Amino acid sequence: MTIKLLPVSLQNQIAAGEVVERPASIVKELVENSIDANAENIQIEIEEGGIKKIRIIDDGKGMNPQDARNCFTRYATSKISKVDDLFTLSSFGFRGEALASIASISHMTLKTKQKSKNKQDTGIEIVYKANQNPEELEITPCSIPTGTEILIENVFWNVPARKKFLKTENTESREIIKIIENFALSNPHVAFILKINGKEKISSQKSNLHHRAQQIIGKDITEHFLPLVYEGLELQISGFTTHYNYHRSNRTRQYIFVNNRMISSDSLISSAVSQAYETLLPRGKFPSFILHITIRPDEVDVNVHPRKTQVKFLHTANIFKAIKQAFSTALSNTHITQNRPNISEVSEFTPTLSEKQHNISSRFSIPNFPKNTQNTHTSRNTHFTTFPQHQSVQPSFIENTIFNTHNRNDDENEGEERERELENREDWKIIGQVRKSFIIVEEENGIRIVDQHAAHERVRLEMLTEKAEKKEIILQPLLTPCIFSLSQSDKELLLQQHKYLRDIGFEIEDFGNTEVAIQTVPAGSEHIDIAKLFQEILDNCDFFEPEFSSITDSFAKKVLSYAACRGAKMFGDYMSQSEMEALIRDWKKCKNLHSCAHGRPVSVFHPFNEIEKKCGRC
Ligand code: ADP
Ligand code: MG
Repeated sequence: MTIKLLPVSLQNQIAAGEVVERPASIVKELVENSIDANAENIQIEIEEGGIKKIRIIDDGKGMNPQDARNCFTRYATSKISKVDDLFTLSSFGFRGEALASIASISHMTLKTKQKSKNKQDTGIEIVYKANQNPEELEITPCSIPTGTEILIENVFWNVPARKKFLKTENTESREIIKIIENFALSNPHVAFILKINGKEKISSQKSNLHHRAQQIIGKDITEHFLPLVYEGLELQISGFTTHYNYHRSNRTRQYIFVNNRMISSDSLISSAVSQAYETLLPRGKFPSFILHITIRPDEVDVNVHPRKTQVKFLHTANIFKAIKQAFSTALSNTHITQNRPNISEVSEFTPTLSEKQHNISSRFSIPNFPKNTQNTHTSRNTHFTTFPQHQSVQPSFIENTIFNTHNRNDDENEGEERERELENREDWKIIGQVRKSFIIVEEENGIRIVDQHAAHERVRLEMLTEKAEKKEIILQPLLTPCIFSLSQSDKELLLQQHKYLRDIGFEIEDFGNTEVAIQTVPAGSEHIDIAKLFQEILDNCDFFEPEFSSITDSFAKKVLSYAACRGAKMFGDYMSQSEMEALIRDWKKCKNLHSCAHGRPVSVFHPFNEIEKKCGRC
């Protein structure tokens, strides 16, 4: 084997593999450059998920002709010149490889102009062709305001193997929205406009962090915000976290910035936060937060990863303590001791947003956030009067919606899969309800303990799925539309799926800013906490590709199973004898008796012969 020195073009493409995973990574690098150039206004235009076109226009300091030539060369940067600079960095970029990498896998046009007193001065334009020697680049004059405009076209045109891994246009667009959300939250002093296929998706003027957060992730989260403040000698913490009353099923709404640089979730930070919340949150639930850590540059290493999404702290114990203290202080200012909920009473189905749906004002208010949260130590008293109660289901709904509308014949073919003891359907007797949670049923060969919520969820799921497949779901208009706010990327996801949501009963409309309005629900589901339902669906969306073509595909299934769950009797709901009779009768008619919509077992069966054995009778 002979060792060969790889040509520069190939070196750049290999580097591009690390820097450019998808169009969103290009947007990240280019916006970082604009912010490093002190831009105050940044406009991003995207076509076809960024694969066809990405244009970034900034009003930063621009480049002179020589820099404009050099910026296409790998390891060409204006941000560092010696090793020590790496440890005193205040810029986002420093590796000098982004533009070279991006240019090696796309078609790039650069226009730039530096501030000049001479009005005659024009900008310059370079159309970069892959593998071109910078000295041979043709520079032409062009008309452009002070700043830089970079146009990227045909991403991965020469690397089909990488292009193959890109997701659909919708998914790539959403990834770009997520990136801009992060920039908007880390740089409230910069105005951002994001246009996707000509449509404005984000338009955010300069503001403070709280206002910016409202514009980007929606007020349904921000109205639960508590300020985070910590002032140490070498370390400051600012931002907001949510009251323990508001929680989500994953960490996707946790935004972490170290010296304004967005970083992916970090185990040190996660465990400091979870220690601060202690047992205040139900298991598997997480707060949402925007955490800004400002630290001396030599206390943190940002050069751990080419995409610069991870950092290494020098004094981890200090960071841990500071974060925990900032979160604990925020939470202790909410009169925890007086209002502390008994977490054991909070079922995982607790509807925290239910009041919103019924237009009842927020349970607590956080008055007058400071414009600048950085230097604020003011303790604030947030009052919330009631911890959300379990939503009770009207008996009429049970009777009318589930038990009378649903009339499926026994399915003989599936006899094998069913438990033998369930075959004789009428051979059972309701003994009663235990702990307002389980129904005890006496059957011919034993005793069955049925999880009332799981059984009802299963009944509702099969009814809704059957109706959806037959296109028989009736759209029930809501008296007042349910309006709720969500992050721009979540909003985009729901709006992208509006046709399919309509097929399963939910008519959704863009309500401006971060809000959507749900106008209709599947008939029989009017009482569901719709905002909470969609919050749960969105929390679980990252685990699958929400791109589907029919009702039986994953997204629709997911929505149906959450709708089934939300409308079902809860653990802790009293059930009358006739309700239990009706529920068990309907449950025994289900195609799949054994698991609820989320795959948990619905019932436990104890055969008499086992019980007798245990009692020493045989
Ligand atoms: P890095 O950001 O790591 O220095 P890049 O390849 O991203 O590397 O950019 C190379 C250089 O090009 C930067 O150091 C900067 O001097 C210049 N540059 C890139 N984008 C801009 C911009 N939008 N405005 C002004 N200068 C820019
Ligand atoms: Mg850069």
